[in-house]
Amino acid sequence: MDENTPQTAPRPGRLPKFGLTTWIFIGLLAGILLGIACNRWLPEESALFQAGVNGVFFVLGRGFVRLMQMLVVPLVFASIVCGTAALGSGTMLGRIGGTAIVLYLFTTLLAVCLALLLGQAINPGVGLDLGAITQFEVKPAAASTLADTFLNIIPANVVNAMSTGAMLQIIVAAMILGYVIGALGEEARTVRQFFTEFNAIMMRMVLFVFAFAPLGVFCLTAHTFANTGLAALGPLAKYASGTILGLGLQLALVYSLLLVLLARLNPQRFFRKMLPVLGFAFSTSSSNATIPLTMETLERKIGASPRITSFTIPLGATINMDGTAIMQGMAVIFTAQAFGVTLEFADYLTVILTATMASIGTAGVPGVGLITLTMVFASVNLPVEGIAMIMGIDRLIDMTRTAVNVTGDAVVTCCVAQRNGLLDRSVFDADDPAPAAHTTSPAPQ
Ligand code: ASP
Repeated sequence: MDENTPQTAPRPGRLPKFGLTTWIFIGLLAGILLGIACNRWLPEESALFQAGVNGVFFVLGRGFVRLMQMLVVPLVFASIVCGTAALGSGTMLGRIGGTAIVLYLFTTLLAVCLALLLGQAINPGVGLDLGAITQFEVKPAAASTLADTFLNIIPANVVNAMSTGAMLQIIVAAMILGYVIGALGEEARTVRQFFTEFNAIMMRMVLFVFAFAPLGVFCLTAHTFANTGLAALGPLAKYASGTILGLGLQLALVYSLLLVLLARLNPQRFFRKMLPVLGFAFSTSSSNATIPLTMETLERKIGASPRITSFTIPLGATINMDGTAIMQGMAVIFTAQAFGVTLEFADYLTVILTATMASIGTAGVPGVGLITLTMVFASVNLPVEGIAMIMGIDRLIDMTRTAVNVTGDAVVTCCVAQRNGLLDRSVFDADDPAPAAHTTSPAPQ
C-alpha cells in the first residue's frame, strides 16, 4: 500500500522538486513567520488583518481541516471492515489471533494512559489561549454516568451514528460487519470485494486531500500566530517533546517489561536487532511499508516462526498503533488546555476508549493518525482547530510514532510466539542472522 502513501501525492500546481513533506515544512515555517510579522506590524482592527488573516487564511485553513474531517467516517469504517474480514473464521481467530488481539489492545490502552498521565504532568497547552482566537463554545456535556459511557459504545442506529460521527459506535458496527463478512467467506465475496475497493478509494482520497496540506498548514499557522504572536511557540515545543518522551517511555518501560515477562527475551538485544526496522519505519512513516522488513527481522534475527509473523505482523500493522495513541492522548491534553476545556473522569475514559479504537481504524500509512485524531476530539467535544496547531510539526512525530507502532507489533509477536513454543531462542542468542531460507511461509489456516 505504500505506493499510495501521502508522500507520493501529486503536488498542487507545478511546484518544483521538493517532496510533500518538505512543502508542508515550508508551509509551517512561512506560516509562523508571516503570522508573527502580522502580529507585530499589522493592527488587529485594520481591514487588511481582518480580510487576510481572519478572512482568507481562516477560510482556507478551516476548509482544509473540514476536508480531513470528511474522510474520517468512511475511511475508518472501510479500514475496519476490511481488517476484521481479513481475519476470516476458524483457527485464525483462535489461539494465536485471540492472544495477539488482546495484547495489541492492552498495549494501546497502556499507551494512551501513559500519554494522558504525562500530559497532565507537563501541561503542554497551558499558556496558550486558543479559545480567544477561535469562536468555540464549550458545550457542557450532558452528565454521563459510567454505565452511559459503556452503553454509548453500542449503536442503536448505525446511520445516525455515521451522521453524527459517533466513532465508537461506528467502529463497533464495522467490526461486527467485518467479522460476519469474514465468517461467511465465499458467500459474501462481492460485498468483501466492494469494501476492499472502497478502502482503496479512500486511501486515494487521503492522497488527494494531503496534496493541499502545505497550503492548509501555511494558512492555519499564519492565522494562529498572527493572533497569538510568539506565545504559541513554547506550548508547541512542549507538546512535541512531551509526545516524543511518551514514545520513548513506551519503548523503554512497556515494551521492555513485556519482553522480559512474557517473551523472556533480553530487551537490549531485541532492540539492537530491531534497529534497522525502527530506522526504516522512521524514514517511511509507514507501518505497512515496513511489514516485509519487520517479518524478515523477526524470523531471521529473533527466531519467531513464520507461522506467527505472517499473521500477527500484517494484523498489527493494521490494528495496533501504540505510538499514534500516545500522540492522540497528548494532543487531547494540549488542545483541552489551550481551549480552556476541563475534562472530567468520564471524558478521560472516553478518550482512552476512543483512542484505542482509533488505533484500530488508523491505516499504517503516513499522516492518517492525524485524521483519526478528529474522531478522538469529537468524542469529548474538543474543537478540531486544535489539530491546526500540531499539524505543522506532525511529520517528525509521525516518523517517531511509526517506529513505536512497528516495535509494538514485533514485541507482541514475540510474546505470542513464546507462549506457543514458536520462538527459536538459538536464533535470538546468535550474533549472525539465520540463513535466508528461514523466511516467511503461508499463515496458519
Ligand atoms: N504513520 C503511522 C503508521 O504508519 C500511522 C499514523 O499514526 O499516522 O503507523
